Amino acid sequence: MSDAETMTETAPETAPRAETAALSLRAIERQYVQGDSTLEILRGVNFDVFPGQSVALMAPSGTGKSTLLHVAGLLEHPDSGEVFVRGTATAELPDQERTRIRRTQIGFVYQFHHLLPEFSALENVMMPQMIRGLGKGEAAKRAGELLGYLGLGERLTHRPSELSGGEQQRVAIARAVANAPAVLLADEPTGNLDPKTSDHVFETLTQLVRASGFAAVVATHNMDLAARMDRRVTLRDGQVVELD
Ligand code: ADP
Ligand code: MG
Repeated sequence: MSDAETMTETAPETAPRAETAALSLRAIERQYVQGDSTLEILRGVNFDVFPGQSVALMAPSGTGKSTLLHVAGLLEHPDSGEVFVRGTATAELPDQERTRIRRTQIGFVYQFHHLLPEFSALENVMMPQMIRGLGKGEAAKRAGELLGYLGLGERLTHRPSELSGGEQQRVAIARAVANAPAVLLADEPTGNLDPKTSDHVFETLTQLVRASGFAAVVATHNMDLAARMDRRVTLRDGQVVELD
């Protein structure tokens, strides 16, 4: 074994990783102007998430969790700073290219599922794949596999209104990862569910992260659920801070 390999193996957890981060935020600033006052929400956020890693984002309401996820997911531009997705700098890219990266590299799960009501579970999960250009047959195959993996194999033809809250969220998770994104961003995905259901949804989500190797950032208020993730961070004075 070479020296370099030995060093990598014995390097402490805090050492910079050679691996490219799935998501990397650098010096992100975001403020909102409200009348004559300015709310400085993100004030120089630096944050890296690596493939296969799950991170719980735990901070009180109004501190900027959703803002952070929107910026990280290229839904909003920061006022300054850079968002790297798999090493690609995105700030200066044309909108069309940002949209392409968002569709192929980033999956979103929200507190409310936002599934299309007139489509089945299977079709909801096929949709992002077909938008990306995949054929119907292939999209259906992958959608069926994913839903099966999430325990919804018997619910493929159900519409969202014919599913329980927990099932709807699992379909939303399947849809978010259907294109095998680099990063899954979830904004209080179990905030609307009872404890037992949210436990189940969370379990599915963490299993999927481990099995698929994408990175996940999950905003949550649930300490038990956060304890099961690889890392816990909070927002303090507009910056991301590790909790343990
Ligand atoms: P969290 O998700 O942690 O509850 P948000 O990111 O939604 O926090 O919001 C952070 C702060 O920014 C809040 O005080 C909110 O009122 C404010 N805010 C969020 N979006 C906007 C907006 N579009 N315009 C003005 N203020 C906003
Ligand atoms: Mg929020």
